[in-house]
Amino acid sequence: MLDKVIIANRGEIALRILRACRELGIKTVAVHSVVDRNLMHVRMADEAVCIGPNPSTESYLNIPSLISAGEVTDAVGIHPGYGFLAENAGFAEQVENSGFVFIGPKADTIRLMGDKVSAIRAMIEAGVPTVPGSDGPLDENHERTAKIAQRIGYPVIIKAASGGGGRGMRVVHTEAALINSIHITQAEAKGAFGDDTVYMEKFLENPRHVEVQVLADGQGNAIHLYDRDCSMQRRHQKVVEEAPAPFIDATARAAVLKSCVDACIKINYRGAGTFEFLYENGGFYFIEMNTRVQVEHPVTEMVTGIDIVKEQLKIASGMPLTIKQEDVKLNGHAFECRINAEDPKTFLPCPGLVSHFHAPGGLGVRVDSHLYSGYTVPPYYDSLIAKLITHGEDRATSLVRMRNALDETLIEGIKTNIPLQQEITRDTNFQKGGVNIHYLEKKLGL
Ligand code: ADP
Repeated sequence: MLDKVIIANRGEIALRILRACRELGIKTVAVHSVVDRNLMHVRMADEAVCIGPNPSTESYLNIPSLISAGEVTDAVGIHPGYGFLAENAGFAEQVENSGFVFIGPKADTIRLMGDKVSAIRAMIEAGVPTVPGSDGPLDENHERTAKIAQRIGYPVIIKAASGGGGRGMRVVHTEAALINSIHITQAEAKGAFGDDTVYMEKFLENPRHVEVQVLADGQGNAIHLYDRDCSMQRRHQKVVEEAPAPFIDATARAAVLKSCVDACIKINYRGAGTFEFLYENGGFYFIEMNTRVQVEHPVTEMVTGIDIVKEQLKIASGMPLTIKQEDVKLNGHAFECRINAEDPKTFLPCPGLVSHFHAPGGLGVRVDSHLYSGYTVPPYYDSLIAKLITHGEDRATSLVRMRNALDETLIEGIKTNIPLQQEITRDTNFQKGGVNIHYLEKKLGL
């Protein structure tokens, strides 16, 4: 087992990683920016190192600082969490070249999946179903581009190969708008990601977002932990997640789960990962793979009883997977509500002092959060401050528990999106289950 791990992240996920390390007897090093010295996990870690000023470019994204922190503390492994450098192949490479263990896939795998064009190609080869599209980058041959769009049929969506976080996408409804839209997306992609490669996909009008969690050891063993539904989105960002995904065609589901496991073996995947799909009319269409732990991993943990972060740490220690596919059993249903420090109506971030925090409790309620009374949410980072997770023997029980948990939660001093989440749990269509990715925005009148 790894002896000592650098937690190269902050907030709730840093605390989540710290808890897993402690259960496994792994020593922890918290690395943090100046303002983050008061974070919960910094206080609890065996060691703490300040890696730079508050802007993340100078701290959490500062690769030399992170590597130095590993050197001065004699750490063995580096866990990147999600966001920041988690899917940065160059970082993974530098970590390994400096003699540390990167807790995640090999740099080449991150690179392959980080470019959505190469990811889609790899998936086609591995037999994973993809969205009909250009299956490659678009070039300046406008005639060829128009033909691809005609073949797949309007509306189409132009997407940045290096895109992420729901940015770098544009829907096109007519041929007249096609070339101009491509140019705008290319310019945006260049500015945001430093890469203007774009590709085209059929724009699915009413899909759900359904994703498959996998674990693989890079030694020939891979399993899936079933699926999650993350269709409740605003601006392509997830707001509520659940596991398992409700009302999925059993045959299509069995086939897609198997194809994900097969793909892991084929690309010799190592670590935890997620295959993201759009699901429409009983069919699955791959959109991208995330080569890291995801924000919504707890819902899968609740229904399978498997600690995904502990599995990541064991795999990174070189241990073969001990969980067999037939041992993975689904038990009940889980929901996760993301609690953000933001105005529930305008969605503008709302950092500041949390004068009072009271967490909900009871059977089947889990709170993953770094909040405490007296904590100040800094303005520099993501607005996620807590994840409320509930579990119940069925979907209805889990949802009613979520409603109660939201009603019990008290966060004073700053605005949060709890009122929006309360409204969602009381929405009759959401209660029925299976709404599509546009449902929340339509409900919000966006
Ligand atoms: P990102 O890496 O930015 O998260 P994704 O490729 O995962 O980008 O897409 C994010 C979201 O955008 C999806 O969950 C879905 O809501 C929407 N989306 C992406 N591709 C399509 C498509 N072909 N048709 C319809 N919606 C899409």
